[in-house]
Amino acid sequence: MYSHAVCPALSGLPEVKITASQDKILEGGNLTFVCEVEGSPTLTVRWQTEALHSHFFTKLQESRDSALELVLYLTNVSSKDNLHNLTCEAENQAGPGERMVQLDIEFPVRIIFLNNAVPQHHWCFPFAVDGNPEPNITWLYNGKKLNETRYIYTQPIVDSGDGSEKHGCLFLDKPTHVNNGNYTLIVENKLGRDEATALGFFMHNPFDNFEGVIPCPTNKSDMDVTENPESRMYLVYVAVGLGVFACKLLLIMVLVVYKCGHHSKFGIHRSSVLGKEDDLAVSLRFMNFGTSPPSSDEDSGLSSFVENPQYFCSIIKDKDMCVQHIKRQDIVLKWELGEGAFGKVYLAECANLSPDNDKMLVAIKTLKDANESTRQDFQREAELLTVLQHQHIVRFYGVCTDGEPLAMVFEYMRHGDLNRFLRAHGPDAHILDESKMPPLGELTLPQMLHIAAQIASGMVYLASLHFVHRDLATRNCLVGEGLVVKIGDFGMSRDIYSTDYYRVGGRTMLPIRWMPPESIMYRKFTTESDIWSFGVVLWEIFTYGKQPWYQLSNSEAIECITQGRELERPRTCPKEVYLLMQGCWQREPQQRMVMKDIHSRLLALVKNPPVYLDILG
Ligand code: AMP
Repeated sequence: MYSHAVCPALSGLPEVKITASQDKILEGGNLTFVCEVEGSPTLTVRWQTEALHSHFFTKLQESRDSALELVLYLTNVSSKDNLHNLTCEAENQAGPGERMVQLDIEFPVRIIFLNNAVPQHHWCFPFAVDGNPEPNITWLYNGKKLNETRYIYTQPIVDSGDGSEKHGCLFLDKPTHVNNGNYTLIVENKLGRDEATALGFFMHNPFDNFEGVIPCPTNKSDMDVTENPESRMYLVYVAVGLGVFACKLLLIMVLVVYKCGHHSKFGIHRSSVLGKEDDLAVSLRFMNFGTSPPSSDEDSGLSSFVENPQYFCSIIKDKDMCVQHIKRQDIVLKWELGEGAFGKVYLAECANLSPDNDKMLVAIKTLKDANESTRQDFQREAELLTVLQHQHIVRFYGVCTDGEPLAMVFEYMRHGDLNRFLRAHGPDAHILDESKMPPLGELTLPQMLHIAAQIASGMVYLASLHFVHRDLATRNCLVGEGLVVKIGDFGMSRDIYSTDYYRVGGRTMLPIRWMPPESIMYRKFTTESDIWSFGVVLWEIFTYGKQPWYQLSNSEAIECITQGRELERPRTCPKEVYLLMQGCWQREPQQRMVMKDIHSRLLALVKNPPVYLDILG
């Protein structure tokens, strides 16, 4: 029993002492407490017994040294009184005095409740158990031992105050259909054992109803999405020759067809970022291929897209680029990575993707609620993604199109999106970190420059294709092993980043904080507007992922940008880098630096990082 004074005895006040017959007792046993009061004349002495569940009676007696003793007899003690604070109080003319002991009643563990999983911050199986000594808790999943990880773990929620009931949750962080099943809670202490089972149903298997798969032509050159772009260019140049002119004509025609006929819904398009009613916004970014013909040294081999509904191919300088079809049965979903505006993104294991790798981790982007038109958009976009191959563009492996949901398979980038990564490696990391892990080190200047140079490299490639991204931001870049950074998302907004977008008229969402004045005012998106956004990306990198104009509302930010105010130089940013940012933020689009030069400057800075003293302290 634990005994402590509630307040120290003042002179003359009754001095209360409690002695127990034993420290702890088994449920059902008997216990005696003697409350001895000195400091006479004592007027009253009593045990607070109102909240007791156990049977009891009291007896007043006088001790050998004529102190007053009130004995409390507990019989057939109830486990409900475990941890109950038993108080003896006394009073004399000088005032009151009291003392307290805590009951320690041992009893076999039992489960009070275990409920089916409910969605909270993470999914939770709520449970409550009671037992003394404290029970050991383990779980079975479908009858087999469940090993707890940082994604599946037991955590107490609250101690229920009075008594020893423990409430808690088995938490599951972003479970998928793979985690559906029976979860059995087993509790044990030295006096007993109890178990109960609850059901976890997190989602339907998103890949149910897959039937066969449309075979992709097995011709190696058609299937190979790993092909080196340089060797492709070489072949292309040899093969095409004068045909380039014809292809360009064809390109213009195809683009006109695209422009008139289709609005995209998935991935690389922006129908969620930019609502349907926004004519300019819904136009395919790829239409920008037509805006200025590639110069010969920039031409990266992309000349036209021809639809072939069966094989899902594009012609790139006379060369079929076929979208690889990945068999449903080759994909095993592991868990959810996040949710984009178009559907969930999962980590999955994929077999037979590359000859040298039996199984690979991939990211699967699913498209929810597909209809006939979104299916067609999806096919076209898959063709276009197949074309984009660069070491700083996230790699697209192919599609899974039979049954629902439609899915695109991308290379898995371990550290997720760059914005989150920057915040996790910045000065506020400890505040933002939910995992309670020790904070990661802050990024160094050479690392920041390395990140920036990689994005610039990807942007040089996109610019060479006359592809306008229109939503370049750190949230749309991904970070892999070894600080490899790639442009990873072609314009899908995310729920978690919804504040980065400004809703204008109905469903149109604009990333105004990354947009130059001409895009804000006239919805004009060009390679030059991407350069402006790149400057903002640089600013994000050097502020460890701060939101541009974070101190301003959307309308205030628009006001500032259109009036020509610039984002301030971040504290850790050397002047050489800020000059680059300013080079991207020239009001006149034609005056902005070009992506190639930005990239070369960044490469030079990576080689020779400026010595930067943070004089602001
Ligand atoms: P998105 O639908 O592209 O907005 O992505 C939603 C979430 O999935 C983001 O939080 C990303 O971090 C994550 N994600 C998307 N693509 C990948 C990928 N290729 N590798 C790892 N995580 C990804």
